[in-house]
Amino acid sequence: MSGEQYRVAVVGATGAVGNRMMEVLEERRFPVGELKPLASARSAGGKLSFAGRPVPVEELKEDSFEGVRLALFSAGAGVSRRFAPLAAQAGCVVVDNSSAFRMDPEKPLVVPEVNPDAVGRRPTIIANPNCSTIQMVVALKPLYDAAGIRRIVVTTFQAVSGTGKRAVHELESQVKDLEAGREPVVQVYPFQIAFNCLPHIGSFLEDGYTEEEMKMVNETRKIFGDPDIGVCATTVRVPVYYGHSESVTVETRRPLSPEKARELLAAAPGVTVVDDPSNLRYPTPLMAAHKDDTFVGRIRKDPSVENGLTLWVVSDNIRKGAATNAVQIAELLVERGLL
Ligand code: NAP
Repeated sequence: MSGEQYRVAVVGATGAVGNRMMEVLEERRFPVGELKPLASARSAGGKLSFAGRPVPVEELKEDSFEGVRLALFSAGAGVSRRFAPLAAQAGCVVVDNSSAFRMDPEKPLVVPEVNPDAVGRRPTIIANPNCSTIQMVVALKPLYDAAGIRRIVVTTFQAVSGTGKRAVHELESQVKDLEAGREPVVQVYPFQIAFNCLPHIGSFLEDGYTEEEMKMVNETRKIFGDPDIGVCATTVRVPVYYGHSESVTVETRRPLSPEKARELLAAAPGVTVVDDPSNLRYPTPLMAAHKDDTFVGRIRKDPSVENGLTLWVVSDNIRKGAATNAVQIAELLVERGLL
């Protein structure tokens, strides 16, 4: 990196993702000259810690971005739609975690291990994909390059942290209530999440799929730049705090053995292969939590089609699925002299 230090704003700094962004900026030694944590009026005046020092949280306002070079947004799509264009107008490059700009053909949708060149030459707003899409495309990239992909069938098992800090508290309190013999309070999800699974993430659409499922379809095609990939997704919320798991079955265009796939995945950036089931070695959310890699195991042939493989893919949804991917995009901008 050039040695220059940047003024960086984190929008939604008090939230699950924003807070982790601050940690990841610090851990990866991103060249932050000054950090500006922004949140709603509710949090203004509070303090967060960055680089061993307390930093005051400011209320997000229209003039918050003057003099800021990089803004990492993580406060929901409504906030991004309103404030990201203002930040860009103020001369700042925005990396946005919400769904607001992901399918905008003018805005890059980037996973650095997969499509780094999509950042372009003069990015203003760059979208970070949905958490479940990020980990799936990281795992599929080496297979796509080696054998092409015709079709993907994916079922996800998604942690409550993907819904934000209120959902983490709701699972904690439901477990305590049930252990104490009290009726659990249900606020965030339509049903109790403790000791349950809900096949419902995002709103239902007319065709019976959910918004989250269609994000996996559309974002995967945009990231690979391949509108012909067939994707069928079922997304499920499970009572896990951190780490999304996915059962991913792919039909490749050309033959690819499980052995070759394992070898390609072991050499792929951002991937750790844990695949020795006879010795009880396979990825789990607890293994992936608080780490940046995408863990892949249970790599085996799908015998129901000519060129089929099936895998189990696990990653920390708040780190690689959100904060780490956003900071990696920012690092890419610095490396390419785009910040
Ligand atoms: P969260 O824990 O509920 O945090 C929300 C954050 O947004 C808080 O800092 C909150 O501030 C702030 N906020 C809310 N309304 C605001 C307003 N009107 N003005 C300024 N700040 C406001 O949620 P989260 O899980 O961190 O998720 C945040 C966003 O990231 C969502 O869009 C979510 O979909 C997205 N996300 C993306 C990925 C991904 O990109 N892969 C993964 C997970 C989540 P207060 O504390 O002051 O309320």
